[in-house]
Amino acid sequence: MSPNQPLLPGSTLGVLGGGQLGRMFVHQAQAMGYFTAVLDADPDSPAGLVSHHHIQTGYEDPQGLAELARVADAVTTEFENVPAAALAALAAQRPVSPAASAVSVAQDRAREKAHFVACGVPCAPYAVIETAEQLAAVSPDLLPGILKTARMGYDGKGQVRVKTPAELAAAWDSVGQVPCVLEKMLPLQLECSVIVARGADGAMVHLPVQRNLHRDGILAVTEVYEGNLPPALAAQAVAAAKSVAEGLQYVGVLCVEFFVLQDGSLVVNEIAPRPHNSGHYSQNACDVSQFELQVRTMARLPLTQPRQHSPAVMLNLLGDLWFTQGDAAQIPPWTDVLALPGTHLHLYGKRDAKRGRKMGHLNITAATPEAARATALKAAALLGIDAF
Ligand code: ATP
Ligand code: MG
Repeated sequence: MSPNQPLLPGSTLGVLGGGQLGRMFVHQAQAMGYFTAVLDADPDSPAGLVSHHHIQTGYEDPQGLAELARVADAVTTEFENVPAAALAALAAQRPVSPAASAVSVAQDRAREKAHFVACGVPCAPYAVIETAEQLAAVSPDLLPGILKTARMGYDGKGQVRVKTPAELAAAWDSVGQVPCVLEKMLPLQLECSVIVARGADGAMVHLPVQRNLHRDGILAVTEVYEGNLPPALAAQAVAAAKSVAEGLQYVGVLCVEFFVLQDGSLVVNEIAPRPHNSGHYSQNACDVSQFELQVRTMARLPLTQPRQHSPAVMLNLLGDLWFTQGDAAQIPPWTDVLALPGTHLHLYGKRDAKRGRKMGHLNITAATPEAARATALKAAALLGIDAF
């Protein structure tokens, strides 16, 4: 079969990783009439619990990968740290999107930044630190800065803020002297992100630009409506995201995260080779969600430009909401929240709530940005989420 032949409903779509992103992919694929297969070692993984097939092995298990290639007609990933070798092994047997080559760029902050530079998209000034010599040679202009491990960071993990060369050296020790990048600390005005989807034929579509608020290194709130960003800046972010995707010859859904600096300039932060937390509003506010884009790209179905039909706010629901201030267990006030018009609850089926763990999200849609914000603030107050 030609690799660009559409895989029609009734085929089986496979995903590496069983987290919440995999679960929402599975839900969407099933809604469109596909069978699904999830590879994740955890018997209780959010995606494994709802998939037709759940292969309970690690990403490096050759038998598990062979089984996935046997049951699935095409494979994608929901987790960027899946070993590139696993994707490459699968790609020998099935269409895999995004490709191992693109995922491996997103896995490594040093390669990722080199890619931004190659695409002519500005990123924060940085230095790669892999050796004591490179550490000693760091320009003082990069301080104060953030030391980030080149691999395996997420939700602000693997990051240390440093002000002096001595703090930098101590920070590099504290992360075990693994390869890192040191990024200059930039004066942020705000953060935003763009979801783009690129088909195997090179066609590209995008979702409207998301404005994001992070708290403690974790996404807290996403707001998407006309006026959330100056239009010229939004257009610049979309163009930059598309050139990053084009430069990777990317196939699939890609999220590009940006900083907007206090002087109004746009700087790319990082990419995620999959749907992203900041794109969840699209489930209820757009006529095509980021998960449908993932299904369409991997199944080689046509991509049509999504249309946002409602202004939207997304609140992340972290495990903290399951605890009182005194650390007693509690159930968040769902009935009160769902009594507010335009609230859409998404929970990931995780049994154990832990502080900082992503348990779900609440999408709020309304006829106007003001109404969406007002309802979101009411929901936040009910849930004990700080106002924004
Ligand atoms: P995730 O993968 O969950 O998005 P991460 O662990 O990869 O997070 P980053 O996106 O690199 O982390 O950084 C997390 C947050 O820290 C950013 O969203 C931003 O708020 C802040 N931050 C990161 N780098 C810088 C920088 N160079 N200057 C100022 N703030 C920064
Ligand atoms: Mg980030």
